[in-house]
Amino acid sequence: MTSTTSELSLDEIFNLAKAALINNGANEENADAVATTVTNAERDGSVSHGLFRIPGYVKALKSNKVDGSAKPEIEEVTPTIFRCDAHNGFAPLAHKYGLEKLIQAAHTFGIAGLAIQRCHHFAALWPEVEAISDEGLVGLTSVSYTPAVAPSGGTTALYGTNPMAFSWPRPGKNPIVFDMATASMAKGEIQIAARDGHSVPLGTGLSPSGELTTDAAEIDKGVLLPFGGHKGSVIALMIELLSGPLVGETFSYESKERDNGDGGPVQGGQFILAMSPKILSGKDTSSQTEDFLEKYKSIDGVRVPGARRHNNRKDTGPRQVNTALIETISNLGS
Ligand code: NDP
Repeated sequence: MTSTTSELSLDEIFNLAKAALINNGANEENADAVATTVTNAERDGSVSHGLFRIPGYVKALKSNKVDGSAKPEIEEVTPTIFRCDAHNGFAPLAHKYGLEKLIQAAHTFGIAGLAIQRCHHFAALWPEVEAISDEGLVGLTSVSYTPAVAPSGGTTALYGTNPMAFSWPRPGKNPIVFDMATASMAKGEIQIAARDGHSVPLGTGLSPSGELTTDAAEIDKGVLLPFGGHKGSVIALMIELLSGPLVGETFSYESKERDNGDGGPVQGGQFILAMSPKILSGKDTSSQTEDFLEKYKSIDGVRVPGARRHNNRKDTGPRQVNTALIETISNLGS
């Protein structure tokens, strides 16, 4: 099955997303922050975290799980540690409030941490770490979600798809960024493959009866597997700990237990770290990094992580969006 698409400009994408959020109870500030994240995802070709997520954001507003007027509060716990109470709001506004303080502290003290609590994250993680690297710092972040991934060797889901993102600054250039689920594939990609009738590689996940399958719809009903066998599995475990008890929030299974099952983003925590290479190393290491990248890029078949998105970003023209999705979003509470 092939899906039909329609062209939308980036402004039209933003307005479509924002209107759906406003029409369903989000205030201007929250709708603006979420619509910006969604538009930037479409712009960069992160389509599983663009408009595709709007129906879920709206479900969470409609069920009152998420407060569309939430105002995040930032507590300075120590000069280098900040705690953000997102007050049941969506993540993008918590980032807008929290990252500025985190970045200032990392510039002053070399390293700073942000613990986000009571937050609903439904997006890609690269916007957070890129914002940190745009200011000359190294960024690292992770979130957990709800059980969808079986630990290596098992057939029962315990981990979320548990993404982590890392970003390294390059003055005057796009940072080196990777942002990846620790599941073999992001849940959103599985859902899109299931929607469009595409198969996925063997080893991506198991059917409800615990069998390996290439059928995305079966995996969507069953469990995903971690990437890279036991190695991905232990990184997923680390993310459960960093995004849960380290920041005073829930494990994926606890997030699911307290969720109302409306299909919108669950409440959970986020761990964000910012580090200054200048302060930690005591010198300017940017030319050393560039030399390394030259060697890296000289190897045939290799590309810099983040480069696909950064190339997509250069195109300011319209994007192809699933036509049925546009219709669905247009009808959300209008
Ligand atoms: P991918 O496997 O598509 O990509 C992972 C990373 O590897 C990207 O940074 C990508 O860079 C980089 N990369 C890909 N191919 C190469 C290559 N050949 N050489 C070097 N680098 C490469 O991502 P996932 O499917 O794992 O994750 C997709 C998104 O889902 C992420 O943004 C993640 O944050 C999000 N997610 C969010 C969740 C949430 O709860 N909020 C849950 C799970 C996932 P590039 O971007 O340039 O292609």
